[in-house]
Amino acid sequence: MDIAFHALAGLVVSKKLTGDYFWSVSFFSIVPDLIGGVPYHYHKVKHSLKKPPKFFISEFIKVTQRGEYFNQLDEFAYRVTHSWLMLIPISAVGLFLFRSMWWVATLGYLFHLLIDLPTHEGNFSHQPLYPLKRFSVKGRAWSRDKRIFAIFWLGLAALYLI
Ligand SMILES: [Zn+2]
Repeated sequence: MDIAFHALAGLVVSKKLTGDYFWSVSFFSIVPDLIGGVPYHYHKVKHSLKKPPKFFISEFIKVTQRGEYFNQLDEFAYRVTHSWLMLIPISAVGLFLFRSMWWVATLGYLFHLLIDLPTHEGNFSHQPLYPLKRFSVKGRAWSRDKRIFAIFWLGLAALYLI
């Protein structure tokens, strides 16, 4: 899902599980895309800037919907930050930063991975045990399927309201 969804989902989940809003859970909910998406988005912007300015946005959307990496660095950064194996170092970071609240970082990161599993497909489908195993979990791309996008946003709103 999009990064705004992950940020708000982190807040809603922290409230539901702990009774309080933790911005730190929200932050760690966007870390996989913040770090893992930097090379891909950089190359996407660089590619789109080759078009005349009035076509920048349409080209940016077109390459987003195409869902292809520009190079191996894009893929590596995305896959490694979306690997379930990252939960181990993220928990260590949480322990270092928050001590007894170590689970804050882990919960945010875990919730991001859980949300992304059914909402990505093709090149961006998840490989939970990357780089050890390359099997993929096939979902439906939120950026191409408006129903998936709507279902997840409505589900988050419902979770917030109950
Ligand atoms: Zn993600």
